[in-house]
Amino acid sequence: MKKRIILLGSTGSIGTNTLKVVQNLHDEFEVAALACGSNWKLLLEQAKEFKPLAVGLSSEQAREEFTQAFKAQPWEPVPNIYSGAEGLTQMTRDVEAEYVLGAISGSAGLPAILGGLETGKDIALANKEALVMAGSIFMRKAEELNRRILPVDSEHSAIFQSLQAGNPSEVERIILTASGGPFRQTPLAEMETITPEQALKHPTWDMGAKITIDSATLMNKALEVIEARWLFDLPPEQISVVVHPQSIIHSFVEFIDGSTICQLGPPDMKIPIQYALTFPERRHLPDTEISLAKIGSLTFEEPDLKRFPSLRMAYECLKVGGTASTVFNAANEVAVPEFLSGNIPFLGIFKLIEDVLSAHQLIESPTLEQLFEVDTWAREQARENIMS
Ligand code: NDP
Ligand code: MG
Repeated sequence: MKKRIILLGSTGSIGTNTLKVVQNLHDEFEVAALACGSNWKLLLEQAKEFKPLAVGLSSEQAREEFTQAFKAQPWEPVPNIYSGAEGLTQMTRDVEAEYVLGAISGSAGLPAILGGLETGKDIALANKEALVMAGSIFMRKAEELNRRILPVDSEHSAIFQSLQAGNPSEVERIILTASGGPFRQTPLAEMETITPEQALKHPTWDMGAKITIDSATLMNKALEVIEARWLFDLPPEQISVVVHPQSIIHSFVEFIDGSTICQLGPPDMKIPIQYALTFPERRHLPDTEISLAKIGSLTFEEPDLKRFPSLRMAYECLKVGGTASTVFNAANEVAVPEFLSGNIPFLGIFKLIEDVLSAHQLIESPTLEQLFEVDTWAREQARENIMS
């Protein structure tokens, strides 16, 4: 029997790459459900091609448009249509599948992923914000329910692959690589005037808008440090970051005997997506060769924490624990669209996050409900700060 996948965020960059992987492995995998926010036109095309049992749209209006278009040109089997944030979670619970691939952008993806875990599915996780928001509860739940969390994020996939070379107790530290983004060498004085257009041009990866801005602020790496802390159950002291502008080595694991293992590959998300789904096996993936001789040299440098305080803040959040990372992520989720709309400057992103973190009253061992409340509070606080 084919393995079934519920794909959350199918219309995005990871979502469309996942569908290419499924196409490539169509004898082995099939799509059980697809979900997006509002891009009903693309969802309709995808559903027509992959014939899932269910589709979900978080926007009610998009659901209406999708339904009308489906009625005009229906196909069999008729998919169940779910809508709204709760509808997406319900869909993930109702549909039978082996995997949920979480590729919604932002912590909005968390409830549906938890619904998938609770109904016995393994999670292939791209949606790092979900783990940053609720890491300890998320991982505890996965352990209690004996479900796997398979990393899709390229750095975490590289670490996951490199970890196969030893035992967890033999790990000295993990080293995440960062491209450094488009402003790796931009002097601080020029960073104040960075425009959204400049920030949306990533030097090595082609991704959705939110993560592209996160890469420009190094917030993406900051979120990934927190993601790694939970995925691999390592304290922050054993997680470090090195800037590697070529994005060929996707991360390293240093073992206690001085051996360091890493994974290399072209910057193509189909590789980690496919590995998450076929683990512990590998399958052929076309057009993925790299020529090291052509690349010539691979370089490394320390991240600049003065120009990019995001990384420093991530380590501080991990040190403080509790609800700090939830606030860190939520404030950033407000800051990014505000920067893209021209309402705050580039460096205003860091200031906003820092200000919301300082105004926060930490809860040390939050419940899931409290995490959602804190997430809402941090978003409101961030919006208030921007207005004032
Ligand atoms: P995109 O912006 O390209 O896509 C986001 C997807 O999520 C779309 O399908 C979008 O639907 C959907 N979506 C957004 N908000 C909601 C919502 N509230 N409810 C339901 N669906 C929603 O993002 P990416 O694919 O780039 O990133 C997705 C996740 O993967 C992020 O967490 C990112 O950090 C992570 N990731 C991405 C990488 C990449 O290379 N792109 C690499 C590593 C991790 P619609 O189209 O209708 O808006
Ligand atoms: Mg990454």
